[in-house]
Amino acid sequence: MSTGETVHSFCRICESLCGLELVTDPARREILEIRPDPSHVATEGFACVKGLKQMRLYQSPDRLTRPLKRVGNDFVEIPWRQAIDEIGARVRALRGASPHSLSMYVGTAAGFGVLHPVFAKGFMDGIGTRNFFSSSTQDCANKFAVSTLLYGFPFTLTFPDVERTRCLIVVGANPVVSKWSFLQVPNPAKHLRAIEERGGRVFVVDPRRTETAKSAGTHVPIRPNTDVFFYLAFLNELLATASLDRARIDAHMTGFDELAALARPWTPERQAEVTRIPPASLREMVAAYREADGAALYCSTGVNMGAHGTLAFWIQEVINAVSGNLDRRGGVLVGKGILDFPRLAKGNLTKGHTSRIGGFTAVNDAFPGGILADEILTDGDERIRGLFVTGGNPLITMAGAGRLREALEQLELLVVTDIFLNETASLAHYVLPATTPFERPDLPFVFPLMLGLQTKPYLQATDPVLAPRGEALDEATIYLELAAASGTSLFGSRIAQALVRGLQRLAGRRRDFGVREVPQRLLLSLLLLLSGNGSFRRLLAEPHGRLRAEPAGGDFLGERLLTEDGKLQLAPPELVARAAELEPAFRAEREDTHGLRLISKRHVKTHNSWTHNDEAFARAGETNHLYLHPEDGARLGLATGDLADVRSETARVRLPVRLLPDLQPGTAALPHGWGHQHARGLSAASRTAGVNVNLLAADGPKAVDPSSGMAHLTGIRVEISPASGERDVTSWSGIAEGA
Ligand code: SF4
Repeated sequence: MSTGETVHSFCRICESLCGLELVTDPARREILEIRPDPSHVATEGFACVKGLKQMRLYQSPDRLTRPLKRVGNDFVEIPWRQAIDEIGARVRALRGASPHSLSMYVGTAAGFGVLHPVFAKGFMDGIGTRNFFSSSTQDCANKFAVSTLLYGFPFTLTFPDVERTRCLIVVGANPVVSKWSFLQVPNPAKHLRAIEERGGRVFVVDPRRTETAKSAGTHVPIRPNTDVFFYLAFLNELLATASLDRARIDAHMTGFDELAALARPWTPERQAEVTRIPPASLREMVAAYREADGAALYCSTGVNMGAHGTLAFWIQEVINAVSGNLDRRGGVLVGKGILDFPRLAKGNLTKGHTSRIGGFTAVNDAFPGGILADEILTDGDERIRGLFVTGGNPLITMAGAGRLREALEQLELLVVTDIFLNETASLAHYVLPATTPFERPDLPFVFPLMLGLQTKPYLQATDPVLAPRGEALDEATIYLELAAASGTSLFGSRIAQALVRGLQRLAGRRRDFGVREVPQRLLLSLLLLLSGNGSFRRLLAEPHGRLRAEPAGGDFLGERLLTEDGKLQLAPPELVARAAELEPAFRAEREDTHGLRLISKRHVKTHNSWTHNDEAFARAGETNHLYLHPEDGARLGLATGDLADVRSETARVRLPVRLLPDLQPGTAALPHGWGHQHARGLSAASRTAGVNVNLLAADGPKAVDPSSGMAHLTGIRVEISPASGERDVTSWSGIAEGA
């Protein structure tokens, strides 16, 4: 065991937020060891390999420690004051032409702090631009769009009561590797097995026999991109066999008759033609769900990122609602945060801005990432000419990465705030060094804190574990300073700007390079005090977390819906109209029974685009592989170790093959987040050999979902063939190119 100071904190890589014990050496400003916290009130000693080795990423010699400015083809270090002033001057000039010529892309990492997204958005609102983008249109905006239509607010998100349910049907999700989405429950395998141990049923509907499917329950293979037909047939069978509580439905919901009419054609037999789920299997699932004393349907990215993610999620939600499982223990719940966030934030997150390209309505105040390249490349007075990227790496994570690179190169101002000089930052005019999670005080991020997306809710506070490395600054300070230098105010409010400026002057620490920090801990403490939860200091005195009241159900329907009539909208006209597109999609799918579909896959050691930069996570020369079922391999003439070319309508990539019997025949799988060879500041990741799967996905206004703005990133039609002229994997260096 390492010697040093032991402190408690929590992980901010994924939504599990595992409680951690860290052994630090403050003199060397290093974390020596990370262990799970066995006394944590909710995570109870659970943590994964990524969380336990994350200090290797933060302590990398690649960490950005001073602001960088691009001069010619090189980056030079400059003082913070110069960086802020120069960026501010460029923002003033661009804003003078049009505020909409400026924009921001917010990545997933931003969401794991409380102040980062608030200050970043505040900066953009102060500029007055409507052009705001986020990673949500890569993986979850379908849920925000549906929640807005059904419940009246994008962040009204239901979650399965996994601690008590008697039947859980997991569709297109792999919580054992990726953890839950919009739900903070650690150790998914343990919770899934517990459902079976108490006599319940678990089903995992997925084209691959995933790690989740292997850990508990019954695996039900499904053809990629056909989830919506599965859900419609599930609803059809439920309506045909269940005795529903019509009084409850009529009291709290509208649109039941339209919904029933919509489901009528989709029998279990009909769905089987495309999903390949035998009617008997579907009926078995519906019977288990119907008869359980508390049941839940749950889905994540496998459904969200498919061609019909919005419609599929809609039908899932209404099944949980009409079956009586919504708003009850053991079914699906709607949590409560420390404040009534939905009511407080509704006006701000449902402004209804419309995009210049494609006329998309903003979802959760963000436009589709899939139109960002067009917004930059298409001439006009409001063309995007300046972009801020914060906590994300869109060149790796967004669809149509080839076109996006071309677009980013056209920008007059690209500012990236990050901890590394990653692929996107390598194209920037300015790169601003941010603090890591362990260098800032924090509370659990917005979903548990403000929405209570936890079956076992708790609060926890953490102080910085280490001082910031070099001149790294927290994002709240960065965006407050940028707002001032740009001649604007946070949220366009002089009062807000003056208030935070005043607190900064009074209580902010002055760093030795002259910048005074925003007093983050004070702001977080004010939030806690306002919500009646005492001070930050008091919460810190409970290092393993403080339990809050558990959700009991029965407090959402009739109480907290934010629709105009206060009822759940089972059949929103926009979605009913879009359901008409399902018949041609069904026919096209039925006629293409032998076509290959590409799904994504996550490796247990990597997380999105940013955890490849250490040998503990990805070794030099390591690559992502193309996984094929042995039957497909034999048909295509490909065996494990061979090189294959994968072609979509947008690009071709070349990868080594691994045969994997866990896949359903006709399904190929390719892990995402790779393709770092051109990053200028990722010394370990740039020596890996993988390719970016998102090159294969299309961008542009015709390629994104009209209701949610979601890109279509899984279930992509591809053609696969042996790499022409090459069979020797040792000569392979990875290729990826536009079609
Ligand atoms: S599961 Fe792993 S990555 Fe996620 S919060 Fe826990 S330790 Fe961190």
